[in-house]
Amino acid sequence: MKKIVFPPANSLINKIPQVEYHIHTDYTDGKNSVRDYVDLALNKNYETICFTEHVDKTTSWFDRFKEEVILIRDKLNNSALGIYYGIEVRAADLGGNLNAYEEIIQAAEVVMGVVHSYPTREGGKYNLAELTPKQAIEIEFTATMALLDNPVVDILGHPGHTYEKHFGAFPTGLYREIIRKAGQRSIAVEINPRYQLNLKAFLALCIEENVLVSLGSNCHSLEEFGRVQGELKGVFSRWN
Ligand SMILES: [Zn+2]
Ligand SMILES: [Zn+2]
Repeated sequence: MKKIVFPPANSLINKIPQVEYHIHTDYTDGKNSVRDYVDLALNKNYETICFTEHVDKTTSWFDRFKEEVILIRDKLNNSALGIYYGIEVRAADLGGNLNAYEEIIQAAEVVMGVVHSYPTREGGKYNLAELTPKQAIEIEFTATMALLDNPVVDILGHPGHTYEKHFGAFPTGLYREIIRKAGQRSIAVEINPRYQLNLKAFLALCIEENVLVSLGSNCHSLEEFGRVQGELKGVFSRWN
């Protein structure tokens, strides 16, 4: 299997690729199976899909999941559809470490690092209700920048999401610093319409910095598959 391809952000203006790089199956909290998504992707003539399953230090099914994807992929040998098995894993601390065992991180073809619950420096979790917006920004920013120092991370998943979900718009200047660093490290920045309060502004920053981007709809069911393409078309139709 050749390496997964991430387009540069400014190429989206001319062409939005038919890829889906954020999929959860019934191995975790998604409704549909690996096979269901593959069938849908084949039906829709998609180029590439990547499963990004939630893993942590209790995950016991990863080998089964990996084998299932490989089996389906091998059977479709002559198909044009690229299929990858990856993981979505949260920052375990403020030092860029991921909350999963090394064995799984190494076995995954694609690693999406994310900030979900806010980690403390020692690897515990903050209670969001006890944080001021200023403290929350500081933690989200520090945890995200540290993830970008971890060489196993391929995709920075939904940056700013935890802050935007609980507090409001994440500061543009800090988004720019994050995106710029991702560009320097050749880590793809996720375009995930589910979590970006201002998708257009975020996309504009990605284009200005011309980083690699990963298109992901955060699918937990077949209905959500490809949502990112629709949202992007909408944003570009009112670009000027
Ligand atoms: Zn997530
Ligand atoms: Zn996810």
